[in-house]
Amino acid sequence: MTEYQKPVPFPTQDTREYWEGCRRHELLIQRCRECGVFRFYPRPMCPDCNSLDSEWIKAGGKGRVYSWTVAVRQFHPAFEVPYIIAIVELEEGVRMTTNVINCKPEDLYVGMPVGVVFEDVTEEATIPKFEPIKD
Ligand SMILES: [Zn+2]
Repeated sequence: MTEYQKPVPFPTQDTREYWEGCRRHELLIQRCRECGVFRFYPRPMCPDCNSLDSEWIKAGGKGRVYSWTVAVRQFHPAFEVPYIIAIVELEEGVRMTTNVINCKPEDLYVGMPVGVVFEDVTEEATIPKFEPIKD
């Protein structure tokens, strides 16, 4: 196995649980215990009611392409172009910036159903990405 050349996540106090979930191939998002709103990216305070009380929920891992762009200029030697950078809206309602893989750029469309896949890139790091699924 060749050494992984791309940047790897650097978990913080706020994101450690999320990245540990990825290692177990679980997509975790936070839910406010006060008002019930889901949120992503991980952070200590609810953007709706300012509560600091939250819990981690295992998301279903399905969503739809909300928007995307295709990177065609290589600005890091480890990232082979083209690749798809997308905003995926999960069924839980939160939006994640991610990559869509196993999909040609010309096949993408707004609303395309996608499901999470986990890439174990190093011993410590797993990256969640999305690929097309049947509706
Ligand atoms: Zn709240």
